[in-house]
Amino acid sequence: MSSTNFGITPESLLRQEVLDLKAYPVPDSTGMVKLDAMENPYPLPQSLREEIARLVADVAINRYPDADAQRLKACIRAVIGLPQSLDVLLGNGSDEIIQLLALAVAKPNATLLSVEPSFVMYKMIAAFTGMQYVSVPLTEDFALDLPAMLTAMQQHQPALVFLSYPNNPTGNLFDAEVIAQIIEAAPGLVVVDEAYYAFANASFMPMLTRYPNLLVMRTFSKLGMAGLRLGFMVGSKVWLAQLEKLRLPYNVGVLTQQVAEKLLQHHDVLLRQAEQIKQDRAWLYERLVGVADVRPYVSDANFILFRVMHADKIFQGLKKRGVLIKNLSKSHPLLVDCLRVTVGTPQENEQFIRALQESIHQFV
Ligand SMILES: *Cc1c(COP(=O)(O)O)cnc(C)c1O
Repeated sequence: MSSTNFGITPESLLRQEVLDLKAYPVPDSTGMVKLDAMENPYPLPQSLREEIARLVADVAINRYPDADAQRLKACIRAVIGLPQSLDVLLGNGSDEIIQLLALAVAKPNATLLSVEPSFVMYKMIAAFTGMQYVSVPLTEDFALDLPAMLTAMQQHQPALVFLSYPNNPTGNLFDAEVIAQIIEAAPGLVVVDEAYYAFANASFMPMLTRYPNLLVMRTFSKLGMAGLRLGFMVGSKVWLAQLEKLRLPYNVGVLTQQVAEKLLQHHDVLLRQAEQIKQDRAWLYERLVGVADVRPYVSDANFILFRVMHADKIFQGLKKRGVLIKNLSKSHPLLVDCLRVTVGTPQENEQFIRALQESIHQFV
């Protein structure tokens, strides 16, 4: 080996965007009440777990999976009642689909536009793929600022616009009429990211046949399959046929395909869990309203954003008491003193409220 090899460093070789990135932080949650990542807190019923165990035992893991995942796609089509004119694209989580979309449009100087605060992966993936990133701030009450959006789209001509519906981390559904106006004015694709659709009573799926530049993305992660890594996007055949070319072969493994298929045959189980979570969200919201100095925001997702004085210290206080939530207080000017809690089981929610009250009492 020549000594000049030592001169080859990450700094000399990697793109500046990559050097500037911070890896997506995943904190250690061992032994904690885990209310930080919008997971479904419920395990599957025992009978279904046994069915899955038998299924997995017979899977041919020596073979590549069905590259087109035809049976799984048919299940998804049936569950969401997809018309023939639309197609489905599968991803290893919907994060992978965001990346695939960005890769597809990333011509030099192409722009990805989103709002802030919103899902951080839109910005990160713009950096991964060398796209320009533009964000438009939400209003004080986390609504879309339509005039600002129209101006930004006019100015930057984004190839992609991402809107999380409901929005993460604020939990609200944007005004559907405003989104429609954004889709109509957009010079490129608009992706409505419905990661939390199971907890909201609203969707842009029915609009797909009206707007050819609209794509709707969903994930099974928040519905109880975070460990499987499966997301999908729905849109017109014309767009999906092109995007499909960028999907890495076999991106959805055989275990994921088979287990997801089985779970979709029992979709009612997952939907019942989601209903339970919606009820517990109402309970948790009322309890948060009742805690002095806490201001929760109304949520259509499986989490609640709230504002509290000394948020950093309250976050640490919760952690010390074994409850892990998400600290957003330094993530955006609109989120000063904001924390986000995922709705857990009734027991976990009570544990969280108790720990929150104790942590707040320390500071008054
Ligand atoms: C969680 C989340 C996703 C990504 O989910 P995957 O686990 O990658 O399927 C996408 N969008 C939003 C808004 C999310 O909150």
